[in-house]
Amino acid sequence: MFDNLTDKLDKAMHVLKGHGSITEVNVADTLKEIRRALVDADVNYKIAKEFTSRAKEKALGQGVLTTLKPGQLLTKIVKDELTELMGGDAIGLNLSGNPTVILMSGLQGSGKTTFSGKLANFLKNKKSKKPLLVACDIYRPAAIDQLHVVGESVGVEVFSNREEKNPVKISEAAIAYAKANGFNAVIIDTAGRLAVDEQMMTEIADVHAAIKPQETLFVVDAMTGQDAVNTAKAFNDRLNFDGVVLTKLDGDTRGGAALSIKTVVNKPIKFIGTGEKMEALDVFYPERMADRILG
Ligand code: GDP
Repeated sequence: MFDNLTDKLDKAMHVLKGHGSITEVNVADTLKEIRRALVDADVNYKIAKEFTSRAKEKALGQGVLTTLKPGQLLTKIVKDELTELMGGDAIGLNLSGNPTVILMSGLQGSGKTTFSGKLANFLKNKKSKKPLLVACDIYRPAAIDQLHVVGESVGVEVFSNREEKNPVKISEAAIAYAKANGFNAVIIDTAGRLAVDEQMMTEIADVHAAIKPQETLFVVDAMTGQDAVNTAKAFNDRLNFDGVVLTKLDGDTRGGAALSIKTVVNKPIKFIGTGEKMEALDVFYPERMADRILG
């Protein structure tokens, strides 16, 4: 995960480590290298630029030129800035409501169905919840089958209705079913398209307006870099979602999505997917991720 970025940041800061006398030029050069490393990791240029100017201000303000260990000080500053960039404090799920209703949004292939299963598993085992999974893809029967397979693998019941073609009605019926049968968390997996389109947006916005979920999560493939950020913006404009799930962080990702998404949509990353298995789910902690990035 983010190996390239880790390497480049390490090289950039190497200059300051073990340097006898540090000048403002050294610091500026190092920060320029850091900026380049961020842009190479597919972080939006403006975000990278703002990042390094903030780091520079802090570095000079905190006396990086006079300290005996400028490398250490700069590493700390960069770590703090990376943590902020990814959201600062970790923000968990809002599990209020009985049942708690969680709506998934995102493009087809982003990992919604897989994540729905992982989340059901997480709520069942880590939060002592009794979750119900809901199949709300009215276009692809295979998507309904897939959710049934996922549900079975984690031992969670799946609600579906292959005859009903209105996702609002399916969701409402599922919530009523949950209330009647003692389920206290409802996870609604929705249809996705290969690209943002008006019909999909209207459909999910209608479900969102009708059921008023406690949590609306936007699921996105981290490997798609800046596209992930643009898609996040499109979904957020329509749904004003509560949090982001970054999937496929186990793949060959450069890190751009993780580092840019919070700044662009101002919503926290809540979970990361790190594999295809149902256990491959981590709660997202910005500070731990910053530590990992810095190696
Ligand atoms: P959906 O169309 O949004 O429901 O996406 P799926 O849940 O069907 O996932 C699409 C593909 O991505 C499947 O092959 C999943 O196994 C895979 N996938 C989902 N999450 C992850 C992840 O965190 N890591 C990896 N490596 N693969 C994932």
